[in-house]
Amino acid sequence: MRIGIGYDIHRTAQGRKLVLGGVEIPYVRGLEGHSDADALLHAICDAMLGALGEGDIGMFFPDTDPQYENVSSLVLLKRVWEIVSKRKCKVYNVDTVLIADEPKIGPFKDAMKENISRILKVSRDKINIKATTSEGVGTIGRGEAIAAQAVVLLEEIKRRKSEARNPKFETNSNYQNRE
Ligand SMILES: [Zn+2]
Repeated sequence: MRIGIGYDIHRTAQGRKLVLGGVEIPYVRGLEGHSDADALLHAICDAMLGALGEGDIGMFFPDTDPQYENVSSLVLLKRVWEIVSKRKCKVYNVDTVLIADEPKIGPFKDAMKENISRILKVSRDKINIKATTSEGVGTIGRGEAIAAQAVVLLEEIKRRKSEARNPKFETNSNYQNRE
């Protein structure tokens, strides 16, 4: 098992869409950023990369790279999942906290879970989204920003015993590619 933590915050802005967990939420302000600025998915990406010891999201998807301009963060989440997969790990569970005084996140949680579980290939009961406010205090309390935290547990995929014991697999050059 490997555990990782992620945190992200984005400034709110007029004329931007508010996208959290890959769900567009109707609201007067959106989040500012190079991509769609989905703070929840960015925190999850960072937690996954952290669990692998692979740095952070900024190293893989620099905000100076035009190919990531306004990109859906679901695409970034998929790419990070592919890195996890290449490292022979799978996601065991994900816990998150969204910190926003406005708007109400509750009605959108199920759709967010659906998006995340589809991409990370885990059942929805392994994804948890908690929403809290900062009680009107600070930048988040004034509605100037929305933040998210995530913790992800990864499980290393074990090779089947029958394969490990069978010397044929050890010498088969296709073996690496198949897994
Ligand atoms: Zn971000």
